[in-house]
Amino acid sequence: MKPNSPLVAGNWKMHGLKSSAGELQKIIAGKKALPEIELLVCPPATLVAQFAAAAAGSGVAIGGQDCHAQRSGAFTGDISAEMLKDAGAAAVIVGHSERRQHHGETDAAVRAKAEGAQRAGLLPIICVGETRGQRRAGETLMVVGSQLDGSLPDIAEFAIAYEPVWAIGSGETPRPKDVADVHGLIRDRLRSRYGEKGDRVRILYGGSVTPSNARELLAADNVDGALVGGASLKADEFLAIAAVYR
Ligand code: PEP
Repeated sequence: MKPNSPLVAGNWKMHGLKSSAGELQKIIAGKKALPEIELLVCPPATLVAQFAAAAAGSGVAIGGQDCHAQRSGAFTGDISAEMLKDAGAAAVIVGHSERRQHHGETDAAVRAKAEGAQRAGLLPIICVGETRGQRRAGETLMVVGSQLDGSLPDIAEFAIAYEPVWAIGSGETPRPKDVADVHGLIRDRLRSRYGEKGDRVRILYGGSVTPSNARELLAADNVDGALVGGASLKADEFLAIAAVYR
């Protein structure tokens, strides 16, 4: 029995139109058989308000994929955490490796976004993870430790997603033992920084999770759920991943 209630989150990335609402409806229908499991769907920003309205009262939460650190201002194209909250979001992913890579987001920027999310009353899901080269060089724990030092806010109200960059969208995954090693390091860091509250921070695994590998990956020590990319676009697959906790 895991101490924290599981959270299974779907990151739709830049996929989805208004017509994708049917997949959300299937997830909402499937949630009834998964009462103990928190489900979160993070569609593109254009769909957050529509999805939040459709999911209201269903137990399926809706989240954003990124937010600006500031409440408002002259930041063309950006969206604040307050705007996501206003649209009905409950959470927001920050520091995804695709944001770090394609938008140059630093640990300090990620921390500021996480603080912005907390200010707005959203749960930040803070992503960390090593590249293939860093894993090969034996630097995984050092890299993740340093991302945690730089990206985490002072208040222990967030979730972490450990997502090895090389496992995202590649079909490759770490061995469950490797997942447990990194999640163990994250848990130790959380405990030493936040005390008992650090035990209640959920640590999600993300990177090529599918219905066929979810059971062994999510059974690893200190894994409290999953952040799912590709497989979250299909309601059946997303629900099958969440069902490993049933
Ligand atoms: C992600 O983008 O957060 C992710 C985990 O993607 P995938 O499941 O497709 O590897």
